[in-house]
Amino acid sequence: MKIGIFGGTFNPPHLGHLAAARAAIEALELDKLLIVPAAVPPHKELPQGTPAPEHRLTMAEKMADALLMPGTAEVSTIELERPGKSYTADTLAALREQYPDAQMWLLMGTDMFATFYQWHDPSSILAQAGICAFGRSERDDKALFATLAEELEETLPEAKITVIPLPELVEISSTELRELLAKGEGGDYLLPAIYGYILMNGLYSTHADLKRLDIPELRACSYSMVMQKRVRHIRGTEEEAVRLARRWGADEEMARRAGILHDCTKYLTGVEHIAICERYGVPLDQLEREAPKLLHSKTGACMARYIFGEPDEVYEAIFWHTTAKADMTTLEKILYVADYMEPNRTFEGVERLRELAYQDLDRALLLGVETTVQEMKDRNLPVHKNTLQAQAWLRDHGVTTEG
Ligand code: ATP
Repeated sequence: MKIGIFGGTFNPPHLGHLAAARAAIEALELDKLLIVPAAVPPHKELPQGTPAPEHRLTMAEKMADALLMPGTAEVSTIELERPGKSYTADTLAALREQYPDAQMWLLMGTDMFATFYQWHDPSSILAQAGICAFGRSERDDKALFATLAEELEETLPEAKITVIPLPELVEISSTELRELLAKGEGGDYLLPAIYGYILMNGLYSTHADLKRLDIPELRACSYSMVMQKRVRHIRGTEEEAVRLARRWGADEEMARRAGILHDCTKYLTGVEHIAICERYGVPLDQLEREAPKLLHSKTGACMARYIFGEPDEVYEAIFWHTTAKADMTTLEKILYVADYMEPNRTFEGVERLRELAYQDLDRALLLGVETTVQEMKDRNLPVHKNTLQAQAWLRDHGVTTEG
């Protein structure tokens, strides 16, 4: 088993870290990548205003999640949980007990590689792991690494060194990024989910007004609340909703914002959903209490209205996007249908839904509703009364899916 160990303060993790992690997984053919946030880095002080360790841990977890390799990329809390300075030698000794037969590689950028000989107990580090070094900027070329490797081998001949190229160089450090964030800049150097997390928690002196976010910031906040694997669907829904709004004369900006936020509470627990509904006075019926999966539309609507200051139209569109209901507005229909047939959806019959959506929105809505009713019946699950009312209302108004 080959394990990569990527230590750092990750304060915050940025796209440079992510590019290095991706490249190392591929170049070393790693079976596992452990991202290891340091509690107290040996070589530098944590700067003032550093978020609590829980925040750094969550951001590191978002970085691991962004690699979309569950089981391969994960965060280790081994240093955050160990009191005192976070010496790599101690970390490797502990990991060796956990993975006695693993081949371990320590990942490090140029700055760390250049100063490795000064680290605490380098010999015991090298007895456990090889070094995988990579550049951080255009200046870090082959010649520089050859010199650094030569110097290191002179002092520590047992060193096993691999230098890997980074296909994408992201020339940024967390220090520079913290300065940018405090000035309201820097979002482009961060994974959106991490940028959103920073904005929502006001980290690094960002002070964003969540009720006045622009579109990239709103996306970032939404993505910060979900798993990375859901982001494609959310983006697909946003784009489909905007196209449908253009086709049916609805407000494109509202369609976009509803699309961005529609699934933002998808990963909350049942207890969390119910707590939000209680806080904002959203009544729940028996079925919703028993099947909290139905609740993400209601709690997503609450987030849209109360956290992000979205207008009633956006609130309502998100509120009804799972069950639908009788007599829906155009925007409500658009979000419901967009969510059903956005480009990443692949179920049988989706092509017909896509065609209908641009010919007759009501017929597309009815087809979506009837597909859900059928699916619930096939799975022996109860159908929500609002869905049945939507179906009845459309049929009463002469809408049909035939022909
Ligand atoms: P700071 O500015 O706070 O010192 P940093 O950006 O150097 O932070 P660290 O968390 O200290 O980030 O770095 C962890 C590891 O990631 C180190 O091995 C470092 O060399 C590497 N690294 C940091 N930034 C980049 C980057 N832009 N590209 C590639 N590797 C990087």
